[in-house]
Amino acid sequence: MDRDAFLLTPGPLTTTLRTKLAMLRDWGSWDSDFNNLTAFVREHLLAIVHGQGSHVVVPLQGSGTFSVEAAVATVVPRDGHILVLDNGAYCKRLGKLATLMGRRTTITSHAEDAAVSADELEARLRADPSITHVGLIHCETGTGVLNPLQAIADVCERHGKGLIVDAMSSFGALPIDARRVKFDAVIAASGKCLEGVPGMGFVVIRRAVLDGCAGNSQSLAMDLHDQYVYMEKTGQWRFTPPTHVLAALAEAVKQYDEQGGQPARLARYTDNCQALLTGMSELGFQPFLRPELQAPIIVTFHAPADPRYDFRAFYQAAKARGFLLYPGKLTQIETFRVGCIGAITRREIEQAVFAVATSLRELGVSNGAPAL
Ligand SMILES: *Cc1c(COP(=O)(O)O)cnc(C)c1O
Repeated sequence: MDRDAFLLTPGPLTTTLRTKLAMLRDWGSWDSDFNNLTAFVREHLLAIVHGQGSHVVVPLQGSGTFSVEAAVATVVPRDGHILVLDNGAYCKRLGKLATLMGRRTTITSHAEDAAVSADELEARLRADPSITHVGLIHCETGTGVLNPLQAIADVCERHGKGLIVDAMSSFGALPIDARRVKFDAVIAASGKCLEGVPGMGFVVIRRAVLDGCAGNSQSLAMDLHDQYVYMEKTGQWRFTPPTHVLAALAEAVKQYDEQGGQPARLARYTDNCQALLTGMSELGFQPFLRPELQAPIIVTFHAPADPRYDFRAFYQAAKARGFLLYPGKLTQIETFRVGCIGAITRREIEQAVFAVATSLRELGVSNGAPAL
């Protein structure tokens, strides 16, 4: 069968045929047609967070992590001090890359089944005035927890600290309004909630901050100030651009607007997430998170207690039925994850739940109930 499986993963994810077809062209990186496409995408991405006038969008080649690394290297001065609020795997990655880049880094640990705390941030900032920046993961994709962006941004604003937000798995779906949430940088990528293909990230940066960032980056390729200055001057990317990825993203953001923008995307993903939680609970599965912490992006489920359960066999059985699940990312307990994002609706989610049910039957697993 040449039909693609549905990707119930946090990116790469299922894209529309229209988005895929947009890649069947060759673009010259120098050519005005491609430069216009870059400008179109940058403007659209900025409008999604209402950053016109105050912020700019700087795109960067590579996967999402490349842009996180570039944002930290560009925005945090070499003698800066970044506090990373850690409640999961992607927070740890942010802390690690900031450390590797030689920035003074402090990491605060929170439980993986809880949101990070604005009160604790307040106390930390009071106790250590040397902190210049705060790093936050908006939706911690390792578990699916939604962190309180507005409350964290308010604390940072009160203390005059820069805020860097990894909004990779939330951008475009969960509301982020630059007029109300004060941030220095918000980072996202082509292949997540915008439903493009993977291969480029982008950073929404406060213009007044970016203007002062020349020379901060110790890396040439990751220097967003340099990328920005060159792009403003020439309309071009500094080094070979991911032309097909950008063309696909341009087509994806057109569909995003046609479908009703951020509110419509959130509504569809919320419906997907509800259908998933309902269907899986009927099979006995239990989500890892309390409902009030769950972002409608990706759901972590406990592994079934039945000894015949084995993730690899379960994964293969679901794959044979046309659905790709995602492994868990928790170190202490066995889990797996199911993404709610991508060009899918409740219809595909209900089919996925049916595939899970028949996969369990094939494995001889009576139901999805965890040990607990
Ligand atoms: C996907 C994701 C990233 C980037 O991961 P890559 O594998 O580099 O694309 C970063 N942070 C979060 C929260 C993510 O969900």
